Amino acid sequence: MECTYCGSPVEDHDPVYLSDEPSGAPTAQFCNYGCLSAHVDEAGLTTGAACEWSPE
Ligand SMILES: [Zn+2]
Repeated sequence: MECTYCGSPVEDHDPVYLSDEPSGAPTAQFCNYGCLSAHVDEAGLTTGAACEWSPE
């Protein structure tokens, strides 16, 4: 399978699989945690909860 972020074959690296499915079927895969975190940053998936957190 190709890395969701960079398109390289994940089997050549240390693959990390993500799943949004209840069945656990992979919906995204990455070469390693570097590609995973780069993808998360680029997609802005971390903005929201962290920025909107309020102590009240
Ligand atoms: Zn990659």
